[in-house]
This record gives sequence, structure tokens and C-alpha cells, in this order.
Amino acid sequence: MEKILNYIDGKLIEPASQKYLDNFEPALGTVYSQIPDSDATDVELAAISASKAFRSWSNTPKEKRSAILYRISELILENLEELALAESRDNGKPVSLAKKVDIPRAAHNFRFYSTAIIHFASESHSMEGGVINYTLRKPIGIAGCISPWNLPLYLFSWKIAPALAAGNCVVAKPSEITPMSAFLLSKICIKAGLPPGVLNIVHGLGHKVGSAISSHPNIPIISFTGGTKTGETIAKIAAPMFKKLSLELGGKNPNIIFADCNYEKMLDTTIKSSFANQGQICLCGSRIFVERPIYERFKKDFVEATKKLKVGDPKADTTNQGALVSQVHHEKVLSYIELAKTEGGKILAGGLPLDLSHEGLNGWFLQPTIIEGLPYNCRTNQEEIFGPVVTIMPFDQEEEVLMYANSTQYGLASTIWTQDLSRAHRMADQIHAGIVWINTWLLRDLRTPFGGVKNSGVGREGGFEALTFFTEPKNVCIQF
Ligand code: NAD
Repeated sequence: MEKILNYIDGKLIEPASQKYLDNFEPALGTVYSQIPDSDATDVELAAISASKAFRSWSNTPKEKRSAILYRISELILENLEELALAESRDNGKPVSLAKKVDIPRAAHNFRFYSTAIIHFASESHSMEGGVINYTLRKPIGIAGCISPWNLPLYLFSWKIAPALAAGNCVVAKPSEITPMSAFLLSKICIKAGLPPGVLNIVHGLGHKVGSAISSHPNIPIISFTGGTKTGETIAKIAAPMFKKLSLELGGKNPNIIFADCNYEKMLDTTIKSSFANQGQICLCGSRIFVERPIYERFKKDFVEATKKLKVGDPKADTTNQGALVSQVHHEKVLSYIELAKTEGGKILAGGLPLDLSHEGLNGWFLQPTIIEGLPYNCRTNQEEIFGPVVTIMPFDQEEEVLMYANSTQYGLASTIWTQDLSRAHRMADQIHAGIVWINTWLLRDLRTPFGGVKNSGVGREGGFEALTFFTEPKNVCIQF
């Protein structure tokens, strides 16, 4: 059985403990590889190697850093098939989705930051009396990057690429549930000529490896993507150490559909925004609010289209939905469906686990689920489920739906469907969310700042914003 290894000081090595954890394939429900059960000792080794590499990497000309990052992006694309299969085996997502979205986007992240760093400029302000103020932007040192399982390489590279481009060294931890593509990335980095110690990848559990990274005294900057509770734990450790923190956390995103929308486009996109990646994208719209005049029509068409989604073998090209990421997560999502029933919800589609054992698939499948009849403020409509489960409800007034939309502790993303330009702008202005999509979903220029408000996080990733985050400003004031 394949053993994943840590990537420390440019080498692939075993964890200090010599212990390993099982890595499950969600579609089959069986173990397919072993992952290092690393701990603080491995993080210490990684931090030492990163700090040894920092002086040289931070002084490496931008063009050279850029060329290495660009080469990594090329190698990711050259290894697209292998990486997509690895992501699917780790995560349960359709291989076709990983091939189309996850892996190209991971390559794009490296490509984007390889060029962004060349164009990144700092500011200068002149004052009367012969005074110039200018801001130097210096790499900080070692960045700790911790990422989740839902878009494994995509989100991992979204942190690592800007941190490295800005001249930092990195100690990174992928999710223990989806470690394989990060392992393949370490091989790619070796091949691309990334100097030893510049990027270190330590595999293992959150409370061991993640917490050793967040509490390490020589890792002054933490970029985390994951659950809101974990973000809170990390903030409690990192804040008193005055670490620079970026937290990209959970969501409970509204999808608001007005009667004047482009109906076909809305319906097609709403299927995707509800169930893509088994609903396990932080940006999925899990609360669907529909203006009353089209509510019954939407309900009928949406249920019909959802029932047509093919749930099955992630390796088959015809599969729309694969398996949920783990047994624990499967149970959690099912428990929310049970909760919804006790709260008065009516299941319009799905609601049940899917037994595909006759196809040799003994993993964690779930029918895409639509629930109606729940009040906006019940737990099902307030807590993040993070699975193929959406609620639908009608509304009459703009103010009413704004109140529903803004009623949760979260504020990550939102979608609005309307042809009324003024209303679109009005709603965008009033919604509490870091991202507002109007008549589209998941479309994004990587130059824009990305992140949530309220309990969906603090700090912004993306564009030059991330390069600003991964550097520290030093203001110099000179009078001549
Ligand atoms: P999680 O919080 O359980 O784990 C995320 C990472 O943190 C993993 O690598 C995990 O090992 C690590 N971790 C766990 N405990 C830790 C600790 N005490 N200290 C340090 N690290 C620790 O999240 P998950 O279940 O992997 O991912 C799903 C969550 O991520 C959802 O809430 C989803 O909304 C969120 N998410 C947010 C975004 C965003 O951009 N805002 C993107 C994707 C996912």
C-alpha cells in the first residue's frame, strides 16, 4: 500500500513517530494509502529547514522565483491525469470535475502568482518641504498554511503560491483526509528545482500538526482555510502571539431568485451552485429563496433536474456526483436531514443514503436533497451542513429576503438572480457577504480580494491582497 511521506528540507521523509494513519477512498469505503501521523517534532524540523532557506529565498531575484513557480504550474498541468485521480480517490469527487476545475485551478494559482510578484509594487507619497515617504514590502519569514479537504490542491496552492512568490518560506499542512495531491505536489516541487526548505509539507492531524504550526514561535504568519470552530481555536493560540492571521471559514450562502430572472440560466446554475462537489464547496448556495410568483414553477423544475443527477462512480464520465468525503461527514450530513424533519421540513428530493454496493462501491453516497417548509431561523437554515442539501422557501418583498439572507452568523458568498439592474445593485450593497454574484456563480477574476465577513473569516486572499498579506510594510520617510 502506498505510503505518503512528509516533504521537509527538499526530501521526502518518514514522520519522526514512524506512525501512519489510514487514508480512505470515500467511494469504496476502504483504505488505499497511508499518511504520516506527524507531530510537533516534524513541524520543528520543517520550521528549522524553512528558516535555513529563508535568507537565500527572500534574496532570490523575483524573476527567478517567478520562473520556478511557473515551472511548478506547468508540471501540475503535465500531471493533470494523475493529480485528478488522486483528488478523486481522496475526496470522492468526480475525476471529471477534478480534471476540469481543481487541478487546472491549482496550476493557475501558481501561474498567477508567478507573474503577480513581478508586477507587485509598493507605494510612495511625497510631502511638501522635500519629503518622500515610501513603503518597503518585505517577506515576513515562515508562513504557516493550513487547508481543508473540499478543494484540496486548489486551496492549498491558493495559499502557498502567494506566500512563496512574496519570498517567504512555508510550512504547510493539507487536510489529513485528502493528502495525496499535496504529496504529488512535493514531488513536482523537487522536479521544478524549488530549493530545499523553501516549501515544507507536513502531513497529519489538525490537533497535532496544525496546532504545532499555529503555536510555533518562529512561524509569525498563518493562513488558514477550514471550519469556523477550528478558526476560532487557531485565533485563540495565534492572537496572543501577535501573529498575522488570515482565516477563511464556513458559510451558509443565500441564493436569491427574483421572478424576473433569466430562468433557464438560473435553473442550470442553481443545480451547480447547490450540488457541485457534492455540495462541499464553501461557496455553494445552500439556502434558496424564490420570489413567490415563480416559486411553484421553480420547485417543480428544480426537483425534476435534481432527480436526474447521476450519483455514482467518481471515475465514470457520466457521474455528476461522487461520494461524500468520509463516513463521519456522511453521518453529519444525514443527521442534519433528520434535524430538518424534526423542524418541520418536507423532503422534496433525496434525503437518503445511496447504497451502491451492487456496483462494488461501498462508500458514502447520498442523494442530492431538497427540503422545503422550514422557517429561515431554524437550525437547518442557520448552521453549515456542507453537503448536497439545500432548503427552498418563497418570499414576497426585497426587505424580507434581505433579512432572511443576512440572518446567519456567516457572510461568505451570495447569489442574486434578477434582470433589474437597480435592484441588483441595491441588493449587492445590502447583503452581508464578502462575495456577491449577480446572474452567475463561482466566476471570479483572481485579482479580486476573496474572503468572508462575520464568522466566515477575517483577512482577504487573492490578487495583490495576498501578496500584501504575506509581506510586512516598512515605511521610510526621508527629507532632502
Ligand atoms: P477543518 O476546520 O476541520 O480542517 C481544516 C484544516 O485545519 C485541516 O487541515 C485540519 O487538519 C486542520 N485543523 C483541525 N484542527 C486544527 C487545530 N486545532 N489547529 C490547527 N489546524 C487544525 O475543516 P474541514 O472540515 O477540513 O473543511 C470544511 C470547512 O472548511 C467548512 O466549514 C468550509 O466552509 C470551510 N471552507 C472555507 C473556505 C473559504 O474560503 N472560506 C473554503 C473551503 C472550505
